[in-house]
Parts: sequence; C-alpha cells; structure tokens
Amino acid sequence: MPCSIKKLVNPDILAIELYQPGKPIQEVQQELGLKDIIKLASNENPLGPSPLVTQAIQKHLQDIHYYPDAGAHDLKKALANHLNVSPNSIIVGNGSENVLAMISHTFIKPNDEIIISKHAFATFTIIAHESHGKPVYIPENNWRHDLKATLKACNQHTKLIYIANPGNPIGTYNTDEELRELLTSVPEHTIVVLDEAYYEYVNEKDYPNTLKLMESFPNLIVTRTFSKLYGLAGLRIGYGIARPEIIELLNRVRLPFNVSSIAQIAAIKALEDQDYVEASLTINREGMKQMQDELKNFGLKYIPSVTNFMTIKVPENGLSLYKKLLNAGIIVRPLVSYQLPDYIRVTIGTQTQNERFLKALAHLI
Ligand SMILES: *Cc1c(COP(=O)(O)O)cnc(C)c1O
Repeated sequence: MPCSIKKLVNPDILAIELYQPGKPIQEVQQELGLKDIIKLASNENPLGPSPLVTQAIQKHLQDIHYYPDAGAHDLKKALANHLNVSPNSIIVGNGSENVLAMISHTFIKPNDEIIISKHAFATFTIIAHESHGKPVYIPENNWRHDLKATLKACNQHTKLIYIANPGNPIGTYNTDEELRELLTSVPEHTIVVLDEAYYEYVNEKDYPNTLKLMESFPNLIVTRTFSKLYGLAGLRIGYGIARPEIIELLNRVRLPFNVSSIAQIAAIKALEDQDYVEASLTINREGMKQMQDELKNFGLKYIPSVTNFMTIKVPENGLSLYKKLLNAGIIVRPLVSYQLPDYIRVTIGTQTQNERFLKALAHLI
C-alpha cells in the first residue's frame, strides 16, 4: 500500500467513534457458555413479534425472488390511514435511522451545524459527521433536552436540530408548549427533526402532537419506527412524516430498494394487530411500575422515563455492574460511551424477566 489508508479518508469519518450496540444473546452464549440468557439491552419488545406478522411472512416467503415495491405503496397507504395524513407526506426507511440519515444527506452542506442534546442518541452524532456537518451539543436541563438553550445556540449555520422525544438514553420528554416556543422562534433556514421512536409509549397529556404542529410549522420532520412497540427491530423498518415538498426531496437520496418486501408486509400486519399493541403497552406499564417500586426499595435513583427503558444510577461503576450481570445471564447496557459511567440502561421486560434482573441486582449491589 503506497501510504497510510487513514490519510486517504475524509477527516469527518475519522471523527466518528464506533457505535457500541447491545450485546447479542448468541455472543454471550458463546463467550460465557451460558444457556438461559435474557436481553434487556436494546429496548426491544419482550413479547416477541405479533403472530399476524409471522404468519404473513411465512406466506410471503415464496415471493422473495421479486424486488420489493420501491415506493412502498401499500405500507404508505396503511400508514396514511393510521395517522390520518396523506401518503405523499410519508417516507419509509430501513429503520428510522435510515430516514434520519436521509435528512442529513439532503440538507447538510459542509460547515452546517446540527444541534443535538449532550446525551442524545449516538446515531445523531454518527450522521452529523458522516454528512460532513458539525454537531453542536447542548447540555440537558434536569435530564431534559434544553429547548431554550437550543434556540440560543441557533445561528446562520444551524441547518438541523435533532430532538429525540422522548430521548434515549435519558427517557424524558419535552412538552407541547416548549416545542411550540422553539418552532415559533427558530430561524427560517433551520429544520427541526423530532425522533419519536418511543412515541406510542407516552401517555402524558402535555406530550406534543407533532402531526398537528406540522400544519403551522412547515420546517418540521417527524420520524417513527416499527422497532420498539411493534416488535420488528430485526427487520429494520421505520418512517418519516413531513410536508410533501420535503418528502419529495428526501426521496431523491433514498436508495431505491431500501426496505425489504418482508419488512413492508410485516409492518402492515403489525399496524393491524391492535391486540398486540394493547398487550405490549400493558406489559410495559406494569413492568415499569414493578421496576420503579423495587428500585425505590433498594434506594437506587433513576431518571424518570416515559418509554420502555430506565436509566439507573448504580452505586459502583456501571461497566463493572454490567459485566457481573452478564455473568448472571442478563444483558443490560453500560453507558460509558454516553459519558454516563455511573449508570446502566435497562429495557422493561416481561414480569419474569424484570424479577430476574431485580433479584440479580439486589444480590450485586
Ligand atoms: C431505538 C431508537 C430508534 C429506532 O431506530 P430504528 O432505526 O428505527 O431501529 C430511533 N431513535 C431512538 C432515539 C431510538 O432509541
């Protein structure tokens, strides 16, 4: 090789730190020789997929030699009905992170700034660098994305603001009033992106109705996903909602066959299965209470969460507790890469899974 390969690379790419995903079950099985493992590390639905989804996939298997519908026509129609919006205000992605990346690819020019919260979803930082933009970090206020400080940080270079609402790994949310204030005062050349991966879980009355806000604020894009409540994380499917003018632009950078036919069919069926949705919400609500009550008994602090996960302050280093839990067959998420070394993030599981986690935790702290 004539010269170091790193000299050839765009410096923005070298600024990216490798993403650390939740450890897969198979890896722990192989590394530690354990059989009975539970994963509470990636905010997946503990119920497994809906039976309507698995049946539809089985039926579709004989057709997988065909390319998928590049326009995701049927899925967009189903989503449009479900959300009461027009199909041309929807774009479908290979996970919602694919839609988030399309947004940056479409709008970011070199030296444009992208505002994100200090402990925001790691994908935002990857996307910012990868699209050659400059991430600008805003410290949280009481563990919530500080929208007042965000507004103050806006300047002529601010192109995008990414807000995960609720946030991950913090689990808190911003209210309708706060968001309106931001949208009313944000510069005209700035687009606000609301990542609502956990929106189905939120019950709070002051949680914003962003599709309604879109009528008054054209520079708003919302992303949602089938990975969390709908239990399809492994299939990679999510979507974005915005004014048709914006969707038309995003479609220019969307790779034509970005979403598999199986994922499209599964998503349509997942939307139909309201029993599954209800069961998932109930198990999460009860599990959240179970975890909160027990953590209070242990005297442990946690960040209040409106999602399907909790971020817990632990008495020792989060990484070493993570390793001990791993040895007990329980996978949680250490938050060292999020600069939260004293915390772990735990997904709400089934009642039995939560019990097992809490028992192991009681033993270890
Ligand atoms: C899990 C999650 C997503 C979902 O990503 P997909 O690509 O749709 O699986 C998006 N944003 C946040 C903040 C998340 O935690």
